[in-house]
Amino acid sequence: ISDIPVSEHALSPKRGGPKNLPIASVLVDDEDSPDMAAQRDKPKMVILGTGWGSVALLKTLHAGDYHVTVVSPVNHFLFTPMLPSATVGTLEFRSLVEPIRRIIHRVKGHFLQAEAESVDFSEKLVEVSQLDSSGNKVHFYLPYDKLVIGVGSSTNPHGVKGLEHCHFLKSINDAQQIKNTVLHNLELACLPTTPDEERKRLLSFVVSGGGPTGVEFAAELYDMLNEDLLRSFPRILRNEISVHIIQSRGHILNTYDEALSKFAEERFAHDQVEVLTNSRVKEVRPDKILFTQMEDGKPVTKELPMGFCLWSTGVAQTEFCKTLAKQLGDSQNNRHALETDTHLRLIGAPLGDVYAIGDCSTVQNNIADHLTTFLRTMAWEKGKDPEKMHITFKEWREVAQRVKKRFPQATDHLRRLDRLFEAYDKDKSGTLDFGELHELLVQIDNKLTSLPATAQRANQQGQYLGRKFNKIASALPGLRANEVDYDGLDEAVYKAFEYHHMGSLAYIGNAAVFDFGGMSFSGGLLAVYLWRSIYFAQSVSFRTRILLAMDWTKRALFGRDLVSY
Ligand code: FAD
Repeated sequence: ISDIPVSEHALSPKRGGPKNLPIASVLVDDEDSPDMAAQRDKPKMVILGTGWGSVALLKTLHAGDYHVTVVSPVNHFLFTPMLPSATVGTLEFRSLVEPIRRIIHRVKGHFLQAEAESVDFSEKLVEVSQLDSSGNKVHFYLPYDKLVIGVGSSTNPHGVKGLEHCHFLKSINDAQQIKNTVLHNLELACLPTTPDEERKRLLSFVVSGGGPTGVEFAAELYDMLNEDLLRSFPRILRNEISVHIIQSRGHILNTYDEALSKFAEERFAHDQVEVLTNSRVKEVRPDKILFTQMEDGKPVTKELPMGFCLWSTGVAQTEFCKTLAKQLGDSQNNRHALETDTHLRLIGAPLGDVYAIGDCSTVQNNIADHLTTFLRTMAWEKGKDPEKMHITFKEWREVAQRVKKRFPQATDHLRRLDRLFEAYDKDKSGTLDFGELHELLVQIDNKLTSLPATAQRANQQGQYLGRKFNKIASALPGLRANEVDYDGLDEAVYKAFEYHHMGSLAYIGNAAVFDFGGMSFSGGLLAVYLWRSIYFAQSVSFRTRILLAMDWTKRALFGRDLVSY
């Protein structure tokens, strides 16, 4: 047994890179075996992260073409769309995770539970760190021929003070802490020693951010309070509890169709979930939230006592991505994500070596140009000269629908354009000059450059890269390490990445909304079953599907598990 190596990697005697760290090399048991020699010569693919993008890549990649090593601080994949359900015990935590070693087994890959710190692009080395058994941070380099960065994002603090008093919802640990705090507050509220005012505060739950995650969490919390509270906490009266959503924009779910945002708001109003729109959190204190709300065109500061706050206000770059962006200097111009070209290659890194996918990345594109192309096509279809064309409000709506389908992230801005258009043309019967419209588009274009940070996009990008790497391997049979990075290989074997928006959905408390770009609908129980079936089908493995089905059945029969750990 002692002859069997415990790791697939070994530290070679060589040190290197700018920090002169030890370099891990692929461990080969028997140098003389032809199989082992082939394994050593295979291109080394290092994948950073075990999220949606990386797992889609791993599931698409053919086994045996590359020597794959996955690096991540967590050893599982997390099915995030259902995470809000785990915060209140509707689903079990284990039903949402799949061990990464089970996923990489198919491609004979290897896993290192560690964190990427930086990349030496010229030597093709990733600096990796992990705490050893004595709690000391150890650093080493991992060499790559192809590096895929899929490290996701962190929560956007928006420069607000006091976020240490908030909860976040990104990981299984976060969900567990939320469940513990919610239950702890309910238990404290039941103590005979808790004064009424304090009881009210403990039972005031605030969600900062009216995007899909905040809305779904508020809905799950509301369901739990309504369905299980009376039975489990009969001392707490329903009207002592309050749930609030603070949203900086005019509507919650503002990237969805306007009718769906309104439906969700009406539903929450009916369920006594308070939605505070056009409100901006200024500071979070241990027992209250300070926020500003516009009144008569002036910002007025208000206070909301709270016992729990979820901070869910969009995404920001991780420290690792900030380091890379800094290293790449002027080639990277986006503050929010690493910029790639349309082949998902990291801009500024040597061509064909490094790719970035999912939330940590953004594909450089110019939506104003796309809009203009749509407009030109429309002019051409109508036999008009695009430069002299005047566009009616009806025609604009037609174009806007096409654009929205391709760029769902533009929904909110398209709505603003609608308003601008209406301002130009009050009775909606006249026309807007094509040039004027283009001007308006260019004005807002900078805000439209990034694709949405969704599992859907990360999944499509991971699959795209998997298919491309398979094509590279089949175009160059017996692929060896030194053959994968010549210029133009990506273009030669595969088309550029194109995002296909399949729609957005959200659970809003015994109801669900669906926005399939151009076609949107909302509804009660039937919609909830549809919502569940879609995610059930997308769940990562047969094992997690069985667990999900068991959780839903268990909940229907016995209610939620209201236990904290
Ligand atoms: P992630 O899935 O976030 O994975 C990043 C991985 O990188 C993780 O494994 C992390 O541990 C690892 N990592 C981080 N730093 C490092 C490092 N330095 N080195 C190595 N590894 C690192 N999207 C939808 O489309 N529909 C939904 O309904 C939906 N609901 C959501 C609900 C919640 C609660 C949340 C939080 C997100 C939701 N999303 C949803 C968004 C979706 O989860 C993300 O867009 C998606 O996870 C992005 O995938 P990714 O692969 O880019 O990153």
